[in-house]
Amino acid sequence: MSAIRHALSVKRADDFAQWYQAVVSQADMAEESGVRGCMVIKPWGYGIWERIQRLMDDRIKAAGVQNCYFPLFIPLSYFAKEAEHVEGFAKEMAVVTHHRLVAGDKGGLVPDPEAKLEEPLVVRPTSETVIGAAMARWVQSWRDLPMLTNQWANVVRWEMRTRMFLRTSEFLWQEGHTAHEDRDGAMEETLRALEMYRSFSEDVLAMPVVAGEKPENERFPGAEATYSIEAMMQDGKALQAGTSHYLGTSFAEAAGIQYQDREGGQRHAHTTSWGVSTRLIGGVIMTHGDDDGLRVPPAIAPFQVVILPMLRDDAGDEALIAYCRELHTQIAGQTALGEPVRVLLDTKPGKAAAKRWDWVRKGAPVILEIGGRDMENGKVSQLRRDRLWNDAAKPDFSAPSREECVAGIAGLLQDIQQNLFQEARDRRDANITRGIDTLDALTDFFAEGKVFPGWVEVQWSRPTGEALDKVVEQLKALKLTIRNVPMDATAADGTCIFTGAPAVERIFVARAY
Ligand code: AMP
Repeated sequence: MSAIRHALSVKRADDFAQWYQAVVSQADMAEESGVRGCMVIKPWGYGIWERIQRLMDDRIKAAGVQNCYFPLFIPLSYFAKEAEHVEGFAKEMAVVTHHRLVAGDKGGLVPDPEAKLEEPLVVRPTSETVIGAAMARWVQSWRDLPMLTNQWANVVRWEMRTRMFLRTSEFLWQEGHTAHEDRDGAMEETLRALEMYRSFSEDVLAMPVVAGEKPENERFPGAEATYSIEAMMQDGKALQAGTSHYLGTSFAEAAGIQYQDREGGQRHAHTTSWGVSTRLIGGVIMTHGDDDGLRVPPAIAPFQVVILPMLRDDAGDEALIAYCRELHTQIAGQTALGEPVRVLLDTKPGKAAAKRWDWVRKGAPVILEIGGRDMENGKVSQLRRDRLWNDAAKPDFSAPSREECVAGIAGLLQDIQQNLFQEARDRRDANITRGIDTLDALTDFFAEGKVFPGWVEVQWSRPTGEALDKVVEQLKALKLTIRNVPMDATAADGTCIFTGAPAVERIFVARAY
C-alpha cells in the first residue's frame, strides 16, 4: 500500500460513523448548537443547501407548483382530526403551552400560569393539517383544482437518536402539498414528485437512487401510499432520501377540502404531500466523501473553482494577485452546467499548502494554485478533487496554460459531475446481491460478518397486516428493513422468501440510516 497521508483524521474503512462526523466538522459544514439534535449550519454547509434549494425550487415551479408560507405553530386540534396522523407524530411533537414567563419562587423565570394558552400549539412536524385548513378555504369548485402548493420551512420532530444532517430535531426542507379532483390526478402528482426527486438526486447530487413504493408498515402516518427514493451509502446502508405520499381523501375529510364537481355534486379532494430535507446533504457526504474529506458535485458546490495564489508576503505578491484577478474574471465569465461558473479567489493569509488542504477537505471540485513561476510561464497548477492523487501518491496537478484552463473549465466541471455519479452508481450496483431465495440464505448472507454487506433484492408475496408484521419482525432480528419496491424492477418469477407463497414483486432489504 502507498503511504498516502490523508487530509482527514479518520478513514472510512476504520470507523464510518466517526469518519462522517469528521467530514462534517473538518469540512466546516456544521457544528453542535448546545440544544440536542439541533445544529448550526456553517457557510459551506448552508451554501450547499442554498444550491439544493435553488435547483429544486426551479423544478418545483416548472411543474406549476407555487410557493406559500404557513405558520410555524399549528393548533393541536388540527392534528387531532386525523387519528393516524396524530398518533404517528405524537411521540415527536414539541408543544408550546405558555406565552409569558414570570419570576419563579426559587428564582429564575418560569412559565406564567396566568399565561397558559387556551389550546396548545404544536411546533410543526409537517404541515398537512394547516395547509389542508387553508385549502378548505381556497377550494370551492373543480375549477380550483388541482391546487399545487409548496413551502420551504423548518420543521421540528423530537428525534431520539440524532445525527447531523441525517436526522436532526429541527431540519430544513420543502414540503409540497397538492389537492386534486380524483385519485388518478393525485397519484399522477405523487409519482411526478417522486420522479422529480429521482432525477434531481442523480443529475444534480450525482447520487444514484432507487425510486419505489414503501411497504405498508413504512407509510407516512395517514397516507394510503408512500413512495421513496433510496440511496446506498458507502457503508452499504440505505438512506431514505425523499418521500412522496398519496394521501387519499382522509386529510381532505379531516380538513374539509370539498369541492363542487363537474356534475354539481360535492366531493372531497384527493391530496398528496412530498418532501426532501437537509438530509440530502448527509447523503451527499456519505456518497461522495473520501478519506480526504468531502467531494462536492459541481452542480451544488457553492464554489466550483478556488484560486489560491501562493503569496510570499513580498513585493511580488501584488503582480501575482493581479494575475489571479484576471484569471478569476475570465473563469467567472464561463458557463458550466447551465450557469455562470462560481469561482473564488482566496487571498486569505496563510500558507498556500494549508489552504489547499482546507479546500480539499471541503471538497471544492477544482483548485487552481498559482505561484510566481506559473505566472511567468502563463500557466496554472490545476487539481481536480475527484481524482486527487497520482500514481506516486502525490496531489495530481496538471499544468495547462491559463487560456487552456479557462477554455476547459466548463468541460472539466461537467466531467467531474459525471465521474462522481458513475463512481457512485458502479459502487451501488456492485453492492446489490440478487438470487437469495430463502430466509436462511438471507440470514447467512448478513451473518457473514461483511463490513459493508450492501442491499439484497428478494422476491415476496406482499403480505399485509399481521403477516407483514411478522416479516418486519424477522427482518428486524437481522437488523434489516424493507427499503422499497422499485418502480422498474423486473417481474417476480419465484416464491416469497418469507411465506413460500408465489412471489408478486421484488423488494430491496438492507440495513438503513
Ligand atoms: P416525511 O414527511 O416523514 O415523509 O419526511 C420527508 C423527508 O424528510 C424524508 O424522506 C427524509 O428525507 C426527511 N426527514 C425526515 N425526518 C428527518 C429528520 N429528523 N432530519 C432530517 N431529515 C428528515
